[in-house]
Amino acid sequence: MTARPDADPGGRAARRVGIIGPPGTLRTREPMNHSSLAQASRQTRSILVGVAAGIGVGLAINVSKGALPWLDTVLVQMVFKLVGDVFRNGLSLLVVPLVFFSPTAGVASLKDPAELGRLGWKIIALYMVTTAVTIAMALFLAITLEPGVGVDQATVAYTPPNAPPGLLTTLTGMVTTNPVRSLAEGNMLQVILFCILLGLALVMSGEPGRRVTARVQDWSEVVMRLVTIVMCFAPIGVFALLAREIATLGFDTILKLIKYFLLVLFAQALQLFVAFPIMLRLGGLPPGPWLRKMREVWLYAFSTSSSNATLPVNIRVVEQRLGASPGVTAFALPLGATVNMNGTAIMQGVATVFIAQVYGVELTLVQLLTVVGMATLAAIGTAGVPSAGIVMLALVLTQVGLPIEGIALVLAVDRLLDMARTVVNVSGDAAVTCIVAKMEGELDETVYRSR
Ligand code: ASP
Repeated sequence: MTARPDADPGGRAARRVGIIGPPGTLRTREPMNHSSLAQASRQTRSILVGVAAGIGVGLAINVSKGALPWLDTVLVQMVFKLVGDVFRNGLSLLVVPLVFFSPTAGVASLKDPAELGRLGWKIIALYMVTTAVTIAMALFLAITLEPGVGVDQATVAYTPPNAPPGLLTTLTGMVTTNPVRSLAEGNMLQVILFCILLGLALVMSGEPGRRVTARVQDWSEVVMRLVTIVMCFAPIGVFALLAREIATLGFDTILKLIKYFLLVLFAQALQLFVAFPIMLRLGGLPPGPWLRKMREVWLYAFSTSSSNATLPVNIRVVEQRLGASPGVTAFALPLGATVNMNGTAIMQGVATVFIAQVYGVELTLVQLLTVVGMATLAAIGTAGVPSAGIVMLALVLTQVGLPIEGIALVLAVDRLLDMARTVVNVSGDAAVTCIVAKMEGELDETVYRSR
């Protein structure tokens, strides 16, 4: 929502979230009021019903599809696929406009361009450190609990769909030669970098810059309204996505790899319910409100398996319910959806050790450190779309000299794990954003602590 200058002549709302533009261009998204909060919680409840119904119906079809094959061909592969994909596409279509307007408006509304440098480094450093620590934790668990011991080697050959890009290519590829193409292709890193430059240019352009900023901020509000429209379809969308996933899950393969499967889930839970709350505490924030309010985001992440598709909802919750200022969220969350993947890093760490154990390879300390470094980079290079993390696992395996075919083993159980790790990925972005916002005095703690 927009605080019109006439509605808040003193600009208190803007000062509260730390964003105040030049006269006449004041914009901030206000925290939710009572009735929109009630509406949001009604909507979360309906989504929860969608999730429960999706899991229930999916399970029922999974056990009965042998006897009634049409359930699979007509209901799952046609109806659920259609509805689920349309909903996921609907969320994803918001991402490019959001990633274009939000960071540009966010950067342009910072009081001082130097703030961006300080903010940017803090966000990037926190993203990198949390990812590296997460991988170390995952490696420790996998080495101690040995999920790969006693598992048969894969007999299926695995060919990665695309060779993972090298480090240099990834770095040079961040700077676009054509922003319009980057937008059309949805290349998030290129778009974010371009928007930061554009935002800085707006700040430095005086009156013309202020006029454009006001329009960009208006557009950013309009796009957030689009998010609200698409979210109306969430209950039916998550139902279809989940029913299809669960109906097609191979429970027998999960049973064969049960130790690996449970270990990855356990490490994800540890990250979500222990590591992030500790981080928030260290950052001076009580984790309770964060855990409570993030539940809505988790539902979307779990059912779409896509950080990108969850981005619109994450921005909404972190700004309006957790009280971080748009100046921070608009930059930190799109960047996080692209480069910060704690859940993916956990999977890549555990999977590497698992594959090494299956192939009887003892990893040396140097190799383990290589895994930490490479998995951090691989997680950065992983796009926020379903199954992207498993493709990037090839990068880690190659670096430590493990057979890429090992991916075939873990691929069999990766769908459900992808849903769980996406929840952790988006939560990491939200936690770091709240912490940095708090450090910068850009977090409204009354909103954060509210019900
Ligand atoms: N699906 C994950 C995400 O969007 C990426 C992955 O496959 O690890 O965050």
